Amino acid sequence: RALHDFQALLNQVEQHSRPFVGKGKVADYIPALAEVNPLQFAIAVVTTDGQIYTAGNCESRFTIQSVSKVMTLTLALQRYEEALWRRVGKEPSGTAFNSLTQLEFEKGIPRNPFINAGAIVTCDALYSRLSAPIHSMLEAFRAQSDNPRVIIDKKVANSEYEHRHRNAAMAHLMKSFGNFDNQVDDVLKAYFHYCAIELNVVELAKAYSYLSNAGYCQFSNQQLLTARQTKQLNSLLFTSGLYDAAGDFAYRVGMPGKSGVSGTIIAVVPGKFTVAVYSPGLDKVGNSVAGIEALAKLSEMIEFNAF
Ligand code: GLU
Repeated sequence: RALHDFQALLNQVEQHSRPFVGKGKVADYIPALAEVNPLQFAIAVVTTDGQIYTAGNCESRFTIQSVSKVMTLTLALQRYEEALWRRVGKEPSGTAFNSLTQLEFEKGIPRNPFINAGAIVTCDALYSRLSAPIHSMLEAFRAQSDNPRVIIDKKVANSEYEHRHRNAAMAHLMKSFGNFDNQVDDVLKAYFHYCAIELNVVELAKAYSYLSNAGYCQFSNQQLLTARQTKQLNSLLFTSGLYDAAGDFAYRVGMPGKSGVSGTIIAVVPGKFTVAVYSPGLDKVGNSVAGIEALAKLSEMIEFNAF
């Protein structure tokens, strides 16, 4: 089916997904996330030729949570290239996003950059190369999402920081193995601020549009990664982007993707489009129930996915 049918497709996707909205459980590990209205659904597609299609409550703003890990990795790859992989692996984890045990077995080298330990060590690497780590990340999102007014939800960032014990444990464990350069709490603060960047689905799809466009962001006019690096990043998202449901997502949706506990998911069809979806109810591993349904339906209705 041709891309110009997109609006009709998204309307159908929304219709299909509505019965799943409100299913599952809103993240409640911090109070600031538990307060969210679960009955929200929004989806936005940004194509490589700059078309934007939406359905649902696209004005809804939410913190991007783990979807920020993709930008952290992007900014770190710009600065370290292949050397980054000395500090973090490329393998799917098969354990929960906040698992500590693997880190102990694997001597402080996290399995991949999309589980918490991997994102935190990537933040540590990035932290060493940025003079204003929080501001630089915010500026990247402002430029790429084409909205200079994007802000960080300080209430969420502070709440995450207050409840940081598990993430702090990972960082300290990595430090004990010599895989951490900066002060743990400084890096955690940056990490939580990245998680608390607040966007809507349109801005999120724009911010990650470079993933479908060979590394080029048409909104900030920047080549963020080389075409080859972008391909590699998408491959890692495909194997590790959906917590321990990456295999199921690959099977049902067939696109590289990244989810966050706020109930958002981005997914990519290289050369075609980036899609962002939001619905706060989560399944047992922490992925948006209606979000997965929406992407599975979208994939079923179009003739292309990553394959
Ligand atoms: N800020 C969250 C944490 O580190 C991110 C969780 C997520 O979206 O997976 O606990």
